[in-house]
Amino acid sequence: MQLEEMKKEIETLVITKGFYNNPEDIPKKLLFAFIELGEASDAWKKGLPEEKFAEEIIDVIFYLLDASRLACPNTNMDETFKKKLEKNLNRPYQYGEGHRTNTP
Ligand SMILES: [Mg+2]
Repeated sequence: MQLEEMKKEIETLVITKGFYNNPEDIPKKLLFAFIELGEASDAWKKGLPEEKFAEEIIDVIFYLLDASRLACPNTNMDETFKKKLEKNLNRPYQYGEGHRTNTP
């Protein structure tokens, strides 16, 4: 399943379950994604089963894609992923990690 397909599945879930579904709800969805990141971190620190960590990461992805569905409905996230991956692959070694040494 690709990101655009996942967005449609998430939209169905949101509508079916009566979750927040308006552009003004985007900040809440981003906050929920952050909360789920915290849950993933907590699962890792507690040494919980791998499945629990994976489930929390999926919760993060759910909220991020749901926010993207409302914030940028005309943007194809599969194409955006490919473009961003290509952009990052063309950046220098260890880009953005200035605290590390630059020797491979
Ligand atoms: Mg969770």
